[in-house]
Amino acid sequence: MNAEIISVGTELLLGHTVNTDATIVAQALSELGINLLYACTVGDNAGRLKSALEQALQRSDLVITTGGLGPTKDDLTKETIAETVGKPLVEDADSLERIKQYFKGRYCSENQLKQALLPQGCTVLPNDVGTAPGCVVSDRQGKRIIMLPGPPAELTPMLYRYAVPFLQQAEQSAIYSDHIHVFGKGEGAVAEEIAAYLDGANPTAATYAKDGEMFVRVTAKAKTKQEAEALCRPVTKEIVAILGDVVYGVNTDSLEQTVVNALKSRGETVAAAESCTGGLVSKRLTDIAGASAVFEMGACTYSNRIKHKLLHVPQELLEQYGAVSEQVAKAMAQGVRKTAGSTYGIGITGIAGPGGGTAEKPVGLVYIGFTNGTETWVKKLGGVQTAERSREYYRMISASAALNMLRRYLQGLDPVT
Ligand code: ATP
Repeated sequence: MNAEIISVGTELLLGHTVNTDATIVAQALSELGINLLYACTVGDNAGRLKSALEQALQRSDLVITTGGLGPTKDDLTKETIAETVGKPLVEDADSLERIKQYFKGRYCSENQLKQALLPQGCTVLPNDVGTAPGCVVSDRQGKRIIMLPGPPAELTPMLYRYAVPFLQQAEQSAIYSDHIHVFGKGEGAVAEEIAAYLDGANPTAATYAKDGEMFVRVTAKAKTKQEAEALCRPVTKEIVAILGDVVYGVNTDSLEQTVVNALKSRGETVAAAESCTGGLVSKRLTDIAGASAVFEMGACTYSNRIKHKLLHVPQELLEQYGAVSEQVAKAMAQGVRKTAGSTYGIGITGIAGPGGGTAEKPVGLVYIGFTNGTETWVKKLGGVQTAERSREYYRMISASAALNMLRRYLQGLDPVT
């Protein structure tokens, strides 16, 4: 099945609102194994919406619209679609009742009640958190149009509770996906190594990158979820074997979740001293519920004075090698471990930019120290003059690299690759 998204809203075209709805719908479609061919945005204009819709219906089997279902004058998605597919709007009793219940004890305008008018013969998608119902309507050729509301907080539950099950039933098939999480290898290298699998039909395999991490998604379609899972299993296993120890998990949540789980099962703890990541390692670890069982402390140690006072980094090291150095990263990891009395210590020092770089120590140069108390390892990131990335990027990648060192150690691997 080929699909297309039409996002409706002048605020999107003006750049006032980020089109997160399109991303949410695109993700759901890809999980369903439905090919998304086009995604376009139109303003709150009936004529342009109609022409976008007609074009979409010519080339795709399914069109999903977002926005313009509400009670205001510029909300004209439903009316325009009903007119395009030649269906009158009729009152849906359940939706009317839901809207009345929503406003129980409060004033409810006529316009609010009008939201219960839906194209004749449609399948209603209830709005569990707002007033505007969504719906699925077919055109004369049997092509489907799914209308979803604009606010992401309304769209997401409607999509996952009602539209996705509807599509699964319509397709009479189930989809299963494995997500292979990779850190420490670029998308190009991963794609090259598993090239043979990227052409597969069922299961399909695809790579994607996000926040410096890499993911391989293996997706199969079958009559039942169990059958689809069985189709994925051997391919996932083979891809994991090919990629080796850069894979930190399959269907896991994140690097930090992997690390917290591993520390918990070993009854061990970690502490972090961070100088260029502004506490990001600590933040990411403590994002995980129950992290306090494994996380002793995080210290944001920016000045040399505090590095010395709190972490006992020797003055001579700071003076001789500078704060951004292998020696100081090591001493920070050892110092925070000692201060915290934790099993492991992490120390990060670097230059996140945009200023502060020199030819010798350019922006992006980061040293990450990791210690288990007996041995201390240091990983160096950057250090060569390249096109600069954002401060946010350097922080994120450095925090991930630090978590990955710990992950590798806990999995019995060399922490530094
Ligand atoms: P409502 O009942 O709130 O009017 P609606 O379906 O009519 O819902 P719109 O009026 O088009 O939706 O948009 C309402 C709000 O939803 C917008 O102001 C915006 O904050 C958010 N929104 C709309 N479209 C999108 C989108 N594509 N991505 C993210 N947010 C969106």
